[in-house]
Amino acid sequence: MKKFISVLFNLFVFVSMVSAVRAQVNTKYDILLKGGHVIDPANNINSIMNVAVADGKIARIDTSIPASEAKKVIDVSGYYVTPGLIDIHVHCFHNSPVKSYQISVIADHHHFSSGVTTVVDAGTSGADTFESFKEVIDRSKVRILAFLNIAAPGMGPAEMEPPEFNVKRAVETAKKYPDNIVGFKTAHYFEISTKRRFDAAHPPWASVDSVLVAARLAGLPVMYDAHPKPPEGGYPARSLRELLLEKMRPGDIFTHIFYRGFPVVDKNGMVNPDVFKARERGVVFDIGHGQAAFAFKYAIPAIKQGFPPNSISTDLHIGNVNGPVLNMANVMSKFLNIGMTIEDVIQCSTTNPAKTINRPELGNLSVGSTADIAVLKVLTGDFGYTDCGRGKIKGDKKIQCALTLFGGKVVFDISGISYPLWQDIPKDDRYWQRPPQEW
Ligand SMILES: [Zn+2]
Repeated sequence: MKKFISVLFNLFVFVSMVSAVRAQVNTKYDILLKGGHVIDPANNINSIMNVAVADGKIARIDTSIPASEAKKVIDVSGYYVTPGLIDIHVHCFHNSPVKSYQISVIADHHHFSSGVTTVVDAGTSGADTFESFKEVIDRSKVRILAFLNIAAPGMGPAEMEPPEFNVKRAVETAKKYPDNIVGFKTAHYFEISTKRRFDAAHPPWASVDSVLVAARLAGLPVMYDAHPKPPEGGYPARSLRELLLEKMRPGDIFTHIFYRGFPVVDKNGMVNPDVFKARERGVVFDIGHGQAAFAFKYAIPAIKQGFPPNSISTDLHIGNVNGPVLNMANVMSKFLNIGMTIEDVIQCSTTNPAKTINRPELGNLSVGSTADIAVLKVLTGDFGYTDCGRGKIKGDKKIQCALTLFGGKVVFDISGISYPLWQDIPKDDRYWQRPPQEW
């Protein structure tokens, strides 16, 4: 009897192996996203297409790919299928002993659920603290890149102190970690709100000039949060014009474009002609919404006058994650409701930021690229969106992320579009087993 059972068992194993091999022969793809509206600006695709994923990469995009060729088919009709979103201004590292600057780790908590698969930390770390930040980067699932702060300790009081602008160490760190560091950041140096005035030890352009030396040596772009200031302490004005048209280089990034402290749009709602000139010479304009840097008062007239952002980004941190930013999808929804097309909103959240950070391999659905994919729904209804000036707009559209793939794996699925109904799970399947290839 024992022998009989053993023979039966071996036969069962053999049959299982044969059927597994047959399944592998018949299914070229791991996942097939079927019937979605693909928007992939890098490849000029804007139509209903099927997207096949194999071995973590985009394997094929076509109008017709048989369901039988995939192990798993996900019906995404009625959804937009886009490259995984790229948010080039977030804060996901805390480094400062000063409590108000402890901007907390919010990497894996808030990005996949918005379709974001790559974030760039905007200068929270500097040369002294990057290796500590690297521990966060290495532990997180979402891809984290960084603009390294020119102030060696990173964001915080050191941003006000020129002796902390350690060009040599910034360049060394950027060269040591080329896979993580995509540029440098200068921020918060003698803002208009500071009580301090320029002096010989704190000249107006100290931070900007230091970061430019580092950037030239490392061959990387700079993200600027650089406030204009009127003349003071015997120094001439630190003007936006000088920053945009003389200091910044093509490819450098001006963030917080709709902040009230930056005269991008004047008090009559007219776009400053200098920003058009700066765009012509290759300066990149980024949203960096943040806690205090986005107002409809400026964004709406700018977009009407033909000055949309190059990139949409959140500046997400603990001070705005519960509003007015919430997440990337919420910020994108604001632009969709104030007149940008869904195609332009997607381009500003995929292809454009990938280009800005010189990562052309990201932000597209090219065959062979890593399968970072966002599946988005545009809901219609009555919605409200707030800005940093405590104003709001009403809107009839809302972008909601339904499904996110990261490296070909489902990492977010808000309503189970990749799941079977529970009644349809075969009896011989283990109901509670999570598919290991997906989670
Ligand atoms: Zn920021």
